[in-house]
Amino acid sequence: MHEMSIAVAMVEQVTESPAADGYGTVSAVRLRLGELAGVVADSLRFCFSLACAGTVLDGAELLIDHVPGRARCGPCGAEWATGMPPQLCCPQCDGGRAELVQGRELQIVGLRHTRSDTADGAAHPASVQVKES
Ligand SMILES: [Zn+2]
Repeated sequence: MHEMSIAVAMVEQVTESPAADGYGTVSAVRLRLGELAGVVADSLRFCFSLACAGTVLDGAELLIDHVPGRARCGPCGAEWATGMPPQLCCPQCDGGRAELVQGRELQIVGLRHTRSDTADGAAHPASVQVKES
């Protein structure tokens, strides 16, 4: 359920962004996902496809850039990969005052639109057509 609410928020973020206007449907969304963000990638992919249904993202692919967790020790400056579950004790001085450098990312970093994929030129999704009733 956690992943579902994230997926819904992502779809909302894309559909409401100025970048989504005038470009037709979205064919792919690129996401930076930190190892320590607490999100299961497969589960998020599944929820994302459900959340996309009926929106301009219908059928869009979710591309995930995995960001490994890294921590840095305050006192001695050592830096290491935290792994999962994260090791937050300094392997060099055994200090417990590590700060997380990266690994909590959950951020949309790019969109791909179908516009650039259409080669025949029959449709021009850049202009939105409004049907008059
Ligand atoms: Zn240290």
